[in-house]
Amino acid sequence: MNTINQVSLRQSRGIDRLIEGTATSDGAGVKLTRVLTGKLQHRLDPFLLLDAFSSDNPDDYIAGFPDHPHRGFDTVTYMLSGRMRHRDSAGHEGLLESGGVQWMTAGRGVIHSEIPEQEDGLMEGFQLWLNLPSQHKMSEPRYRDFPSGAIPEYLTPQGVTVRVIAGSSNGVAGVVTREITEPLYLDIHVPAGAEFSTALPASYNAFIYVYRGAVTVNNVQVETRRMGILSNTPGTDGVALTATEDARLILVAGKPLNEPIVQYGPFVMNTQQEINQAMNDFRDGHFA
Ligand code: MN
Repeated sequence: MNTINQVSLRQSRGIDRLIEGTATSDGAGVKLTRVLTGKLQHRLDPFLLLDAFSSDNPDDYIAGFPDHPHRGFDTVTYMLSGRMRHRDSAGHEGLLESGGVQWMTAGRGVIHSEIPEQEDGLMEGFQLWLNLPSQHKMSEPRYRDFPSGAIPEYLTPQGVTVRVIAGSSNGVAGVVTREITEPLYLDIHVPAGAEFSTALPASYNAFIYVYRGAVTVNNVQVETRRMGILSNTPGTDGVALTATEDARLILVAGKPLNEPIVQYGPFVMNTQQEINQAMNDFRDGHFA
């Protein structure tokens, strides 16, 4: 792994708000924590949803997510631990394993299933929904699978390990680049006492979600299983954080679309009429 010197920031963003997720279930009864949804979609534009799942009880995940549709956005699944089989109506199939990423562009519509291929052990990871700009909402569905080894990683002199899933951090390009929303998606492991920093335009909406340990950002502590929404303070040029104990977190950022968001379950469009069309198209079998 390459050792990279981190950028020196002029001024770091702070924490605007701390969010505790809501325990819920989805699919055929998969237990998860919904961290980002509904009311945060404008604040965190272009991101629509973040689910965190973590359980070593198979009853919490074994039934998975049987066939269901999506239209109008990308789903990004990052598996920290576990095995999940994906199949979709566009003919794509893949096995997502520990450390791997599945990036699916639903575009004009897919029906897919996400079913665990393990009967015991830990299943842990995240699903993030990234909105598509209006002109791409009806694009061809697309699906890409990246095994753990395909994801670029770097190390800092302080011992911070960074996996670059999307975008670019400290000069290291991720496995995915998306135009227009330019998402940044990092998985960061920070030893106790170490500092991590990366550049980020002040106008991009951004959050961290800590899944082990705790970090501070401008002296505000973000504990395990908390999302910290980063401020968009003008004049800032990135984010710096320090681990108060060994910490693992994701950092997600993107350029807002500033377009109307109309959601009905798995369909996210710009107008109610487009949602009605999605429901009609699904009912009439146009997703298959
Ligand atoms: Mn899905």
